[in-house]
Amino acid sequence: MLFLLISAMPKIIRIRFYEELNDFLPSKKRKVLFDSFFRGNPTIKDIVESMGVPHTEIDLILINGESVSFDHHPANGDIVSVYPVYESFNISPIIRLRTKPLRISRFITDAHLGKLARILRMLGFDTIYNNELDDHQIIVIAEKEKRIVLSRDIGLLKNGNLSRGYWLRSQDPREQIIEVIQRLDLREQILPFHRCMECNGEIDRVKKESVIDLLESMTREHFDDFYQCRGCKKIYWQGSHYEKMLEMIIRLKG
Ligand SMILES: [Zn+2]
Repeated sequence: MLFLLISAMPKIIRIRFYEELNDFLPSKKRKVLFDSFFRGNPTIKDIVESMGVPHTEIDLILINGESVSFDHHPANGDIVSVYPVYESFNISPIIRLRTKPLRISRFITDAHLGKLARILRMLGFDTIYNNELDDHQIIVIAEKEKRIVLSRDIGLLKNGNLSRGYWLRSQDPREQIIEVIQRLDLREQILPFHRCMECNGEIDRVKKESVIDLLESMTREHFDDFYQCRGCKKIYWQGSHYEKMLEMIIRLKG
């Protein structure tokens, strides 16, 4: 009887979230150690997600100074520190919860991020976007092809079958691209004009003669260097959007 009474009592942990994980918390819980109560025997993943932080954002959890896995069950009185995925300070002696982000970063965006997907492709990043994919299909593709899911839907990122994801803080595609490049440390991987903005196919330089019949007369007259998508066959040249694209790339790389 006494045992039953004790097991039904709430347990308490003291927990602190670091860096951008605080974006998910109410202001009074940001960057401070706070008390959290729970009943039963939940995993640490369940506890942090109940506070609004998707597990895909988390790289390291320390309990009383020791790294633990997501399925660890915290005990009464534990001190918990939770660190984000792309934090750059050195924690190499400690086992991370996942392998480091893939050296070649590949993405899949949710159905609302078509503009961001186009910019990522323009910068050379392999990015799947299809507004007919539902959440389940997005997760299946992401896991099979080791892609990072980009989304503003926290619910999607909390899905237990998903291992890589990033929650976009901004709603503006131009700010989103800066976020992705900075938070995931992708500046060195930018490879512009290698991927088709329309279909994500790779583009190759082609001879003018091979596409000349497909060009408008003004384009034919003023440009000599052409690129073509292997997938949808769209033709690219350094036309009016080119300067604006270059400006954006220089800003992101700088
Ligand atoms: Zn294409």
